[in-house]
Amino acid sequence: MKIIDKIDGMKRLRRRLAEPVGLVPTMGYLHQGHLALVKRARAENPSVVVSIFVNPTQFGPQEDFDSYPRDTNRDLALLGKEGTDVVFMPSVAEMYPEPFNSWIEVGKVTERLEGASRPGHFKGVTTVCAKLFNIIQPTTAYFGQKDAQQAVVIKKMVADLNMNLEIVTIPTVREPDGLAVSSRNTYLNPHERQAAVVLYQALSLAQQLWSQGERDAHRLRQEMIGLVKKQPLASIDYISVADTETLDELDMVNPPALVSLAVKIGNTRLIDNIVLQ
Ligand code: AMP
Repeated sequence: MKIIDKIDGMKRLRRRLAEPVGLVPTMGYLHQGHLALVKRARAENPSVVVSIFVNPTQFGPQEDFDSYPRDTNRDLALLGKEGTDVVFMPSVAEMYPEPFNSWIEVGKVTERLEGASRPGHFKGVTTVCAKLFNIIQPTTAYFGQKDAQQAVVIKKMVADLNMNLEIVTIPTVREPDGLAVSSRNTYLNPHERQAAVVLYQALSLAQQLWSQGERDAHRLRQEMIGLVKKQPLASIDYISVADTETLDELDMVNPPALVSLAVKIGNTRLIDNIVLQ
């Protein structure tokens, strides 16, 4: 496994990689969700590149960039076991040399949900992904359904700007009780960890009501809000039933529909979603 921290070095190595090349972009502190992406990339490509970069431009000023969990040695050991070919782990100065002055902004689909709650977040995400795509030139890049809006935004950027790669999304990996695996779960104390299952319970309730024939999106949101509000450690940021591509909120549930939510458990903001098919 080659470990590269310079852009020039990555570009030089790229020319020698066997085609096709699969890329898994991550912020490190790897868990089973990340490893599912790596396994999928491994199964589909002779060359697998994983990037580890905690991207400062996608964090707001009050967010957790400084405290975001990092453990490079553990990450490298896990990636070695998965048969990763290349780990690209540049520094912030390498990715954003001063004066850095160019940004990619995707329109409407970035304005709602996570974009509404985290101004500037997707501008950071799309810019860093465009940079990674330019540097690594993957045939396919793999993203998790866990960050559903991110996948929609990246696909839109790739389509609108005619970028030369395919985007694949893989299903959300969950803990046995349903909680979506996330690096931020490490912030939860044992009480909060128990309470955090309420996100999955709310999604499951929406799924169940939908299966029983409920088609009123307002009713689904109300039922989910009612359930989350019963959990004293939880405070709702948003609960949404939206079109899977435009992310417009729905009145009537028209499959496929994206049911998503952001909830703070104590001080930790968690997101999750399901698609009603
Ligand atoms: P992050 O390191 O949080 O930026 O995540 C890197 C990639 O892993 C993103 O494409 C995420 O959507 C994906 N990911 C994170 N958690 C999960 C999960 N529980 N299941 C599947 N993919 C995930």
